[in-house]
Amino acid sequence: MKIRRSGDDKSGPLVHRVFMLVTPLLAAPLRESSGRRRWIGRTVAAMGVTAVLAFDRSPAVGLAALFLIIVPFEKLFPRHRQKVRRAHLGTDMAYALVSGPLATIGVVVGVFLSLVSLWWIPGLMLRPLVGAMPTVPRGLLGIALFDLAIYWAHRFGHEVPFLWRFHRIHHSTEHLDWVSGFRNHPLDGVLVAPAFVLLLAAGFSAKFSGALLVIQFATGLFLHANVRWRWRWLQKIVITPEFHHWHHANMACSRNTNYSTLLPLWDLVFHTYSISADDRPTVYGVDGGVPAGILAQLWEPMRDLRNPWPMLRHPRSGLRELRAMAARGVRQMVASARHRPVTG
Ligand SMILES: [Zn+2]
Ligand SMILES: [Zn+2]
Repeated sequence: MKIRRSGDDKSGPLVHRVFMLVTPLLAAPLRESSGRRRWIGRTVAAMGVTAVLAFDRSPAVGLAALFLIIVPFEKLFPRHRQKVRRAHLGTDMAYALVSGPLATIGVVVGVFLSLVSLWWIPGLMLRPLVGAMPTVPRGLLGIALFDLAIYWAHRFGHEVPFLWRFHRIHHSTEHLDWVSGFRNHPLDGVLVAPAFVLLLAAGFSAKFSGALLVIQFATGLFLHANVRWRWRWLQKIVITPEFHHWHHANMACSRNTNYSTLLPLWDLVFHTYSISADDRPTVYGVDGGVPAGILAQLWEPMRDLRNPWPMLRHPRSGLRELRAMAARGVRQMVASARHRPVTG
């Protein structure tokens, strides 16, 4: 079997061939839909093209592959009647296109956050155990640990007011579809960094930990898809679009629920699981909304933060203030974990 190296330059012609196949499919949803049968044909075509795309690894091709996999299902089994060209699609596409550079901004903050979060300490404690485990149980433990850590990072992102400033950008979309999954503030995305470092400290390889990050990102896009499947039998085993749509519902009955990103087990264990058997989520978004456009949204969480300049000019009192802020954050996390009201 031929192993393809990153230096091989074969993506050009392949991308071109794929583009020739993909263009009619990309353009088709933008025209008036002429019914279910046409979309069934497109789905079959999309499956074929996706099989070709599976051999290419460039981000743009990956994005096209996701488009081809998910959009036909959104048209065949829509949860909400909405056009592919729905409101604010441009904003979410802009997030998709700059997701790489935005993630790079987050890396610096992510490294800092990983160190101060101290999640590497339990990782180091688990290291001897992990090292002694056979491959399969070790892999399963890695998945469970990562998912548990992401559960808590996500929960704090909702229940600690300072973190919610950033995470509410992701929740601001009022139209759920796969593209809306890209809408993430880079300083919200860094909350995955402590989970990543926890795994590294526990002795899992960077490749394994990185693969979990990629899987979490890719499944995340599918969870936002505008599909009507409920998959009731799966709902407590692995998360589904229905589960995550409830997480996004701006309805009193669903507030602060369904934080898991892979296994609903954590929501069941920590009493935040909520899927109605009779009802379905209808309204998405956040109270008060956010400004339109990616630049305004990226600035929004910082808009009314205190000016940091006086803290930099007076480092000693600045440090005291930072310590007080960190202590308040820890108190809020403890209150969140105990299901107590989180106060400022
Ligand atoms: Zn959330
Ligand atoms: Zn989401």
